[in-house]
Amino acid sequence: MGLISKECTKGVHSFCLEFCAHLTGSELHTARKGRRPLRDQLELLWELQKIDLDLKHIKEERDRYPKEIKKLDEKKNIEKEKIQKEKEKVELLEKGRRQKEGHLNVEQEKIKRAEGRMFEVKTNKEYQALLNEIEAIKEASSREEEEILRVLDEIDELKKNFSKREKEVTAILEKIEAEKKTIQEKMVQDDEIWKKQMERREVLSKQVESKLYKLYSTLKEKRQGVGVVSVKHETCQGCFVNIPPQMFIEVQKNNALIRCPNCNRVLYWEGDGKTK
Ligand SMILES: [Zn+2]
Repeated sequence: MGLISKECTKGVHSFCLEFCAHLTGSELHTARKGRRPLRDQLELLWELQKIDLDLKHIKEERDRYPKEIKKLDEKKNIEKEKIQKEKEKVELLEKGRRQKEGHLNVEQEKIKRAEGRMFEVKTNKEYQALLNEIEAIKEASSREEEEILRVLDEIDELKKNFSKREKEVTAILEKIEAEKKTIQEKMVQDDEIWKKQMERREVLSKQVESKLYKLYSTLKEKRQGVGVVSVKHETCQGCFVNIPPQMFIEVQKNNALIRCPNCNRVLYWEGDGKTK
């Protein structure tokens, strides 16, 4: 029996019972057998846990990033469409203006022709009729001219706003592109980290005793990817519930497989930040 088992027989550590069961005759009980001591095993497991958390994080990012890129593309398209619509509005007004100018030319031709006929009229009645006709055309022309001026003002205003908007949209599009680039770079980085961590994981998973590895895998699966946790201020960093003071003392030795009485995760002492 190892140190912990001896202590447990005193009945001090009820939490050790499961651990002792693991230890007795198991591969974990290694110190006496000349294998890697449990301390080393815990260190390996702790490293493995950190790698698994990294991998978990990358998995989440791999799931999230394409969605973010899609959103950014949609945002980009909305901005492009908005500016396109503004552009089309100006073009439509320009077209209207050209049509109105065309009408105005026709009207002015009509006036010229009517004025030309002034010399041909024989009677006063005809003369009056022609004058009325010319007057009517002039009124219509004047309305047309006013309308053209109004459209020109509108076009000017829109163009002024448009160039301002165009600059704004260009800035927005550039910002979106930069965000996309950052994400894409992060994705490349993630792939590199993933590859490296998977390689290291492969090595570690072979170094960790198979029973311990199995226990870790089961806990990890049941506890949101976290099977080993550190303890800080007598608190399990997995479930944030306090552990008994005596257990805390044992955890700090890092030479026993101790599990949180609340969440069942393996507890690891990372140091209190003073010594490391
Ligand atoms: Zn816990």
